[in-house]
Order: sequence, then C-alpha cells, then structure tokens
Amino acid sequence: MGNIGAMEKIKILVVEDEAPIQELLQFNLERSKYRVHVVDSGEEAMTEAAALQPDLILLDIMLPGADGLEVCKRLKSDPKTERIPIIMLTALCEEADIVTGLELGADDYITKPFSPRVLLARVKAALRRIAAAKPAQSDDDLISIHGIVIDVTRHKVEVNGEDISLTFTEFKVLQLMANQPGRVFTRYQIVDAVHGDDYPVTDRSVDVQIVGLRKKLGEAGTCIETVRGIGYRFKEED
Ligand code: CA
Repeated sequence: MGNIGAMEKIKILVVEDEAPIQELLQFNLERSKYRVHVVDSGEEAMTEAAALQPDLILLDIMLPGADGLEVCKRLKSDPKTERIPIIMLTALCEEADIVTGLELGADDYITKPFSPRVLLARVKAALRRIAAAKPAQSDDDLISIHGIVIDVTRHKVEVNGEDISLTFTEFKVLQLMANQPGRVFTRYQIVDAVHGDDYPVTDRSVDVQIVGLRKKLGEAGTCIETVRGIGYRFKEED
C-alpha cells in the first residue's frame, strides 16, 4: 500500500498462550517487518490493545481465563479498541466459534495449524482492507472487480460490459461482498446487512440468493466462494 511509511512499522498484537505458536507468529511477522507484541491472556490483551493501539490483533480463541470470543466482544464494544481489526486463531473444528467471532466483529480467522504463507497473506489482506475502507455503503460508488462493475447509485451491474438484471436483494448481497473482497461473511451478517436486524430469514434463503446471484453473474460467479461451515467470501483480485 502506498501510504504506509517505511519508517513507521505496523504494530501487531499477538494474543496466544502456547509458547511454540507465539514464537512461530513472532518470527514470521517480524521477518516481514511488522512490530510484534505478544501477550498470553485475554486480560492482558484488553489492557495492551488500549495502550498500544495496534494496527491489527491476532487473537487465539482458546485462552485461559477470558477466552478469545469474550475478548473479541469486549474489544469491539470499547470505543478505545473497537476499530482495531481482529484475526482469530482457531482450530479447524471450531466452526461455531468462528461464526460467533465473525458476528462479534472479527475480520477474519486463521485455522491452526497454519503455514507462514497463509498467515502473512491473511494479515496483508486485512491491513489492505482497512487501508481501502470506505464509508460503509456510500451511495456514489462504482465498484469494479473481476470484470464486474457495480453502479451503486443507479443500481446497475455490468459483467464484462454487458448489463445483467439482479433483484434488489441480490444487488445488496453483491454490493456488500464485492466492497470487501477477501472478507468472509456469515449468512447472518449477509442477512443483517441486506435487511436489518428483524428480517426473519433462514440460512437456506441466503444460500438461495447466492445460487441466483452466481447464475446471473455467469463465469464471474466463481468470484463468490463458499467457505464451508462458515459462509461466503468474494475473491480478492490478484
Ligand atoms: Ca490457546
């Protein structure tokens, strides 16, 4: 990203209680020139996040004392820390926790065991999304990605230069996801963004919207990826 000064290192707070994983994270992040602070409990995480104001938090879910979900919830409800993006560290089998964490405001998750390559890609993607963050759903936007052009003002979508016709809900789902490529959305988050809190809907109806959307997008429909057990993600551009 263009506006990150070379002299000013990006600060990452790592919250992890297992020493080998702490070391693995610290080693790989420092090698990529991030400044890393490690704490090993949720309580320390909350104090340190407020004091340090890191650019990103890597938060283990299984912690002694207050667990990662509790910490995530508290960080996201404290004005001093609510804007700091969080990537959760979880076991692959903790799908329910991942969904809960995303709905509590975490930006992404990494499942253990992870490769340094995946770790750094996820960290970079999260930082990139923060840098590119626009006011949510601003109405004068033109979103252009993977050959799809979304004209938010006029509610029109083109794929490779050709107009396609979407329903209101399909349009809102596409706008939401294409606005934050690489970010995983749970079904509940999609419903919530499209209809507000009180809309009665099932997981299944979100899946139906996605199926319809993919079909209308044609080949570009592969941009909407299914993340098994969690939700959906719009592919990042290379
Ligand atoms: Ca742990």
